[in-house]
Amino acid sequence: MGGAGELDSLSHAVSECRRCPRLVAWRELIARERRAAFAEETYWGRPVPAFGDPHARVLIVGLAPAAHGANRTGRMFTGDRSGDFLFAALHRAGFASQPSSIARDDGLRLRDLRITAAVRCAPPANKPTPAERELCLPWTVDELQLLGDVRLLLCLGAFAWDAALRLLVASGSLAQPPRPKPRFGHGAEAQAGRYALLGCFHPSQQNTFTGKLTEPMIDAVLVRARELAGLEAPRSAGGRDAPARTDR
Ligand code: SF4
Repeated sequence: MGGAGELDSLSHAVSECRRCPRLVAWRELIARERRAAFAEETYWGRPVPAFGDPHARVLIVGLAPAAHGANRTGRMFTGDRSGDFLFAALHRAGFASQPSSIARDDGLRLRDLRITAAVRCAPPANKPTPAERELCLPWTVDELQLLGDVRLLLCLGAFAWDAALRLLVASGSLAQPPRPKPRFGHGAEAQAGRYALLGCFHPSQQNTFTGKLTEPMIDAVLVRARELAGLEAPRSAGGRDAPARTDR
């Protein structure tokens, strides 16, 4: 288990990574070309480090940064519609200090929760290759080893669920992949070694605009996440009034 300094060092190293030639080319192309609405902005255009509480009990595992979201702002789920939906829910559940996530310097703080992704660079069509997925896995292994308080991996989508299972094998938390493999679903739960897994549909626009993932659905998952992680229910929405943990 490490401290905030080691996590910061890891984040810095991640942000310099160039292991995947295809993704390096793509993230930098997007950053040069930009979307018209952000033409005046300087895109991050690099791997996006994890974000949140170094003492997190809940680790959200996402898929990969969005081309004009996190790849633009440099912070996970920040600056796009998926993030709007996710951070509003995290705020209601007492994990986030504010309901919006606009830029790296917007003052947002996460409590008891950290957000990472299976792949740290924006992929074309949001589809990393299996080889890219494997090349990025060691970053998350290192991260999990520094996050000694994590009890629950909250997986946003089937890709993240599978990535979490691979992560637990690669980090030595599981001796081998569980057989049968636990199936992903919204609200699906599994115990994998010392970690609980909890599934949630990804808050992509495709899922939220079509009603596949609604606010009550993600709220229910986040309530369950607090239970599985041994956290009390928040006294009020917004995180600032969330009860303090007594073990740190
Ligand atoms: Fe490095 Fe991961 Fe980005 Fe590949 S996806 S270049 S391994 S940070």
